[in-house]
Amino acid sequence: MAAAYNREACVPLPAAFLGGTAAAQPGLAEALDGQAPVSVRLNPYKPYLLPESAVAGPVAWAEEGEAFYLAERPVFTADPVFHGGAYYVQEAASMFTGWLLRRILPDLGGGELRVLDLCAAPGGKTTHIASVVGTRDVVVANEVIRPRAKILAENVQKWGSGNIAVTSNDPADFGERLPGFFDAVVVDAPCSGEGMFRKDHGARAEWSPENVLLCAARQRRIVSDVWDALRPGGVMIYSTCTFNAAEDEENVLWIADELGGEILDFGALPEGIVPGYGGGRAAGWHFFPHLVPGEGFFAAAICKNGSSVGTPAGRAKNNKGLPLLAKNDAAEIRRWVDGAAGPECFATGGDGMAYGFSQALYDTVGALLQGRFGLLYSGVQVGELIRGALKPAHALALYHGLERGTVNVAEVSDGAAMEYLRKGTSTALLPADSFAEGLNLVSCQGIALGWAKRIGNRYNNLYPANWRVLNY
Ligand code: SAM
Repeated sequence: MAAAYNREACVPLPAAFLGGTAAAQPGLAEALDGQAPVSVRLNPYKPYLLPESAVAGPVAWAEEGEAFYLAERPVFTADPVFHGGAYYVQEAASMFTGWLLRRILPDLGGGELRVLDLCAAPGGKTTHIASVVGTRDVVVANEVIRPRAKILAENVQKWGSGNIAVTSNDPADFGERLPGFFDAVVVDAPCSGEGMFRKDHGARAEWSPENVLLCAARQRRIVSDVWDALRPGGVMIYSTCTFNAAEDEENVLWIADELGGEILDFGALPEGIVPGYGGGRAAGWHFFPHLVPGEGFFAAAICKNGSSVGTPAGRAKNNKGLPLLAKNDAAEIRRWVDGAAGPECFATGGDGMAYGFSQALYDTVGALLQGRFGLLYSGVQVGELIRGALKPAHALALYHGLERGTVNVAEVSDGAAMEYLRKGTSTALLPADSFAEGLNLVSCQGIALGWAKRIGNRYNNLYPANWRVLNY
């Protein structure tokens, strides 16, 4: 991994911000003009160890071995395993959502939980949530802005956990069409971005006290629109990457008092995290960059009032979903996926491709389709059945449950992997004889990157043209 760091042109911190939040937090303004740490979160489903020399230390609020600061910022696009979903480059403070979720899950009741990540692109929290919950739990990752939802769907496929459905809908669609459906809802709300002032000087330029109030009002609208989709007894995690009370504590107190919920507390926190207060009441937690290594972040957990109805055990199957595959087609696909962790059922998507799902995800997708949601991706796209034989999809290569014994695995060097990822066909870099005749899974450092086909001395690079890596 080669080092590089690009700093945007310097924009001074806004005067009203300096006189307000920054004045109340000595050391904050200086930290916002300093260097941002770089952190990554490893994919628990894909066996990969960061080079020891690259690691500066662990993220304190992550699980052991889960997330690390890097000694310097590499060119991630030049690292082949980054494209195989071995890790996600995620700002450290925002990994606190995973910390919260781990403490909330035991109280939500076991079984096939449904979690909605409402404002999900590009997918930092989605991929984290999908790793914290089980493979039989369901994550619906939604992003209202369509082009951003497409990036989210791509990142979901690279992560390869198989337990996510990606939608692109307005928050109100969930409240109106799926009442009481979710056990947990994560609202990582669009905000004024004070916590990103160090990394993103554009956020400094756009900031104003008026915009803070507009953001706070929009956040209340988003939360109230989605609130009905959370079941009573379920938990909302509300977060922003800003420091001000209007978007943080005041909104959390408003959710609890106006919509009806209890703000949760979890006792001892990792050092440096500052409890947020509103009118003397505890309301969430702040991450300040002068106190902990990370950008600014705020998060709170609110349990919706009411008895816990519709818990996982009592959920009905949804038989109005995607058409299930015939037994012999499903049997052909089962050869390609790991039996224990793999999908429980297979169905044909609207695009004519076969998809694999856990039963809970299949039922959720059925409910989303009945509710006329814009579904961009779900489960694992396994491929196309042609006269009873599977032509595997790219997403299957990236899926953690792929049965590697089904095809030849061509393990290649970093250099060859980059040639493959730019969709090159240079036989000098990718010598055809290192591939078996027919289909191969191209792998680098044990991380699958995609498919390639050898036909005699010819070599077909099957990496998706729209994903090819050109600049690195
Ligand atoms: N959760 C993401 C992650 O961890 O990668 C980051 C989400 S970002 C803070 C907020 C997201 O909300 C953006 O993707 C933005 O497009 C979306 N958004 C903007 N306006 C929205 C609205 N009115 N309703 C819902 N989402 C909105």
